[in-house]
Amino acid sequence: MSVPHDRIPAPAWNAWGSGEDASPLDESLRALLEEGLGVPRRDTPPVDESEVRLRESELPAEVRSELAGIVGAWRVRTDDHTRLRHAGGKSTPDLLRRRSGEAEVADAVVFPGEHAEVENVLRCCSRHGIAVTAFGGGTSVVGGVEPLRGGFAAVVTLDLARLDGLLRLDTESGTATLQAGLRGPEAEELLGAHGYSLGHFPQSFEYATIGGFAATRSSGQASAGYGRFDDMVVDLRAATPRGTLGPGRAPASAAGPDLRQLLLGSEGTFGVITEVTVRIHPVPAEKHHEAWSFPDFGAGSAALRELARTGALPTVARLSDEVETGLNLSSEEVGGSAASDGCLLVTTYEGSAEHVAARHAEAAELLRAAGGASLGPEPALSWERGRFHAPHLRDALLDVNALAETLETATSWANLHATHAAVRDALTESLTEQGTPPLVMCHVSHVYPTGASLYFTVACARGREPVEQWRRAKRAAAEAIAAVGATITHHHAVGLDHREWMTAEVGDLGVEVLRAVKSAVDPEGVLNPGKLVPPE
Ligand SMILES: Cc1cc2nc3c(=O)[nH]c(=O)nc-3n(C[C@H](O)[C@H](O)[C@H](O)COP(=O)(O)OP(=O)(O)OC[C@H]3O[C@@H](n4cnc5c(N)ncnc54)[C@H](O)[C@@H]3O)c2cc1C
Repeated sequence: MSVPHDRIPAPAWNAWGSGEDASPLDESLRALLEEGLGVPRRDTPPVDESEVRLRESELPAEVRSELAGIVGAWRVRTDDHTRLRHAGGKSTPDLLRRRSGEAEVADAVVFPGEHAEVENVLRCCSRHGIAVTAFGGGTSVVGGVEPLRGGFAAVVTLDLARLDGLLRLDTESGTATLQAGLRGPEAEELLGAHGYSLGHFPQSFEYATIGGFAATRSSGQASAGYGRFDDMVVDLRAATPRGTLGPGRAPASAAGPDLRQLLLGSEGTFGVITEVTVRIHPVPAEKHHEAWSFPDFGAGSAALRELARTGALPTVARLSDEVETGLNLSSEEVGGSAASDGCLLVTTYEGSAEHVAARHAEAAELLRAAGGASLGPEPALSWERGRFHAPHLRDALLDVNALAETLETATSWANLHATHAAVRDALTESLTEQGTPPLVMCHVSHVYPTGASLYFTVACARGREPVEQWRRAKRAAAEAIAAVGATITHHHAVGLDHREWMTAEVGDLGVEVLRAVKSAVDPEGVLNPGKLVPPE
């Protein structure tokens, strides 16, 4: 069973949204940018698509005809329109480059419709020395879908959109087998028709896919209740140039190391995931929203730590620092509503009425004891209404001479405040030195018994070379993250942008292990070259 794709508009080639849903920045936010951040009032629209010059496709004719034999001639596309829409991900530098008319494109975009086709495409490309970049929703913010040739004669982007079915629903075991190309809303719609939900709602939900969630170890806004995407995965099926990998045959197993973990987070470098069997749960009968105010970030994060340790976590738990709280409260645009000073904690609880009531009572008591004051449901409802809005707001900010981007990390509770300060200071210093003092705000986005993830949002005036401006700021933040001992990424993955920090992350031997796995499943090295695994 599948859903018609045209129900969700395709994203624009140079923006997060489809273009149909674009709305210009309102005057109050424009004034805030000008007065608060010194953003000179100037429109910075993207170039027209007709002004973008793409290189010619150099896919050898022999490979093209072999690929056409596998998927059908009309599903091997070399036209500029299609190649431009697969020209990379959705980080701010990605968008800035495309908005200025620069785009690195694949030699062809191939649309397989089933697992066997994916496997045959990979075998064909491996035999002919053609690089292959798997493409789900194309929402990567770390260069994961950049079509790099990596020394091969050509590169093909493998768009998985046609793998869009719910293959199996096992209500007795509480699992569903979903094809990799299903986007978030499509998966929820298919499951919802049977009364089930996955509960995975990253901010990229509108466009990101099941395969992409698995390949990047994505984490959604309701992770406190339902877990990260990798926690939900029971089984996977992946095609490699050497055949099929299908680890996962029981809810738990002691049959050696868990090979599912080799595919989770493998970012298209070890294989192309075609099916994912996930844990599902009934659509919640009850939802309770409550926001809390804490005197400061320290008190709020201590309260979250307590909730995580006692197991009394809500389904959503998101704590803004003082700066983010101030902005949320002053702007309806970012999902805020009037509340108080200090730090805002948004909580929601989902499940059966009894479960929600019991969990809320236990958590509320702990939050009150930790210094929290309830603000009632409205700020949490307001956050939920606006929770997918921020990337659309970024489109509007990029139109008016501003720069806006996010980055994330995770660390232990003991190291949380040092990490918060180090990253905030690194971003502030780098951008201020470059003449564009930024607004840097942060929230705790995912919590665990032993630590939490920190998610930073940065906004400032655009410099003369905005891609280079952000590259320097991001490097400063990444170095601060490595120096303080936090992870280079909690959920955005490694891709191209974080690859140079992989050795610090997993050690020299760890990198060798990754290379050894790659050479076993992809001996010619054609799968997504340049991503995740540092070169020798
Ligand atoms: C505005 C915005 C908000 C975001 N918010 C979140 C968030 O809240 N949480 C979060 O976790 N991430 C977030 N991200 C990051 C991104 O959306 C996630 O990494 C997402 O999981 C990627 O899914 P996708 O289908 O778009 O994958 P793509 O971007 O298409 O691909 C990502 C990587 O996975 C590989 N890949 C894709 N599909 C497959 C497959 N079937 N088999 C093998 N490899 C594959 C690609 O080659 C690439 O390396 C956000 C990104 C943006 C732009």
